[in-house]
Amino acid sequence: MFELSEEHRMLKDLVAKFIDQELIPLERSAIAREARGEAVGLPPEEEGPLLEKCKELGLWALDVPEELGGANLPNVALMAMNEELGRTCVPFTFPPDSPNLHMLMAVANEDQKRRYLAPYAAGETKSAIAISEPGAGGDPAGMLTRAVRDGDDWVINGRKIWISRVSSADFLIVMARTGEGKRADGVTAFLVDRGTPGLIVEREIKMLGGQRTYELVFDNCRVPASQMLGKEGKGFAPMQLRLTVRRLQMGAWCTGMAVRALDMLCEHATQRVTFGQRLADRQAIQWWITDAATRIHACRLMVMDAAAKQDKGMDVRTEASMIKVFATEMAADVIDHAMQAFGAMGVTKELPLQIMAAKVRAMRVYEGPSEVHRATIARRIIDARK
Ligand SMILES: Cc1cc2nc3c(=O)[nH]c(=O)nc-3n(C[C@H](O)[C@H](O)[C@H](O)COP(=O)(O)OP(=O)(O)OC[C@H]3O[C@@H](n4cnc5c(N)ncnc54)[C@H](O)[C@@H]3O)c2cc1C
Repeated sequence: MFELSEEHRMLKDLVAKFIDQELIPLERSAIAREARGEAVGLPPEEEGPLLEKCKELGLWALDVPEELGGANLPNVALMAMNEELGRTCVPFTFPPDSPNLHMLMAVANEDQKRRYLAPYAAGETKSAIAISEPGAGGDPAGMLTRAVRDGDDWVINGRKIWISRVSSADFLIVMARTGEGKRADGVTAFLVDRGTPGLIVEREIKMLGGQRTYELVFDNCRVPASQMLGKEGKGFAPMQLRLTVRRLQMGAWCTGMAVRALDMLCEHATQRVTFGQRLADRQAIQWWITDAATRIHACRLMVMDAAAKQDKGMDVRTEASMIKVFATEMAADVIDHAMQAFGAMGVTKELPLQIMAAKVRAMRVYEGPSEVHRATIARRIIDARK
């Protein structure tokens, strides 16, 4: 049986309370914003007080090492807390956002730790990562953006697309080809500050569920050599590390979303009577409930197993791919059944379900489409038998 420690169970309960008392009350305005075609993200007047509350409760720097002032929680605790975050359609994560934190911790040098990691870990700055390009998304090794050394500088030229968090990012981690090496070999990471000449935010792109991404152009964007993050030509592995961190988080968020959808489904099914019988007494609805509860249970165990392995320093890339596929498809089905049980109300823009459905739809594409993960998992399984 998987069990959280007493301390971590208390933290999970604290987060659950925070979600119920602070975030769920903000759903109405988030749903209204999305229905008006605006970005669903929190406006500063809502985000500010929330961040204050997080600081007050100690829900801050949760996976930051102690020497940087953080709580250094193990992944099992973080995933339990992330599951709670998934229960609301209000987009929110406790600062700092984890994937870039782990990439910086893995490869930043002492100077970059002081200039970038420390303020980021303290939640004082925000960041984005620019990997995808118009011709290379699911297969990022095909990227064409190039950085060329010029004296003490690097000059970046190219185009990136579908980049999240650009509007709030103080700096971007930009992946660019530097060597002549083919595919993954020869890709290097760079730290590019907002406002750097030659970094052009070409357009904002409206995505499903009130989300936003951005298209960026790098037009002779010149950065000092000190902005190179990690080793030249070896940026791919730390980039994969950050993707693994996000994929586990996504598994926990999907579990939370499905829990919320199942709660709503059960509540509605016990109240709604059609043809003289409660929906809860219909076999079709009961099977949705059973399948949802079973798959939620499986997903939670998958996430916790991977988190526990990660805490032991094990490589969980395959588990992360399995979770990415299973969790997103499971949550999509559970939310869809909840929407169906609500009938017309389920397909209005008045419930959180439709935002969750849209979010999880996008999740099947970003951090690697399901089909790419399936192909990767199969390749590893076959290779392991050679
Ligand atoms: C909401 C959102 C936020 C994002 N945020 C970021 C970000 O912050 N930074 C960033 O760099 N990128 C970001 N992305 C981009 C995302 O990572 C890519 O969209 C994703 O990797 C897929 O790339 P693509 O869109 O080019 O699709 P393609 O690579 O063109 O794939 C299209 C489809 O082809 C199929 N396919 C592809 N390869 C295979 C295969 N090997 N086998 C079988 N089928 C296959 C899949 O069905 C796939 O969905 C974001 C995307 C979204 C939707």
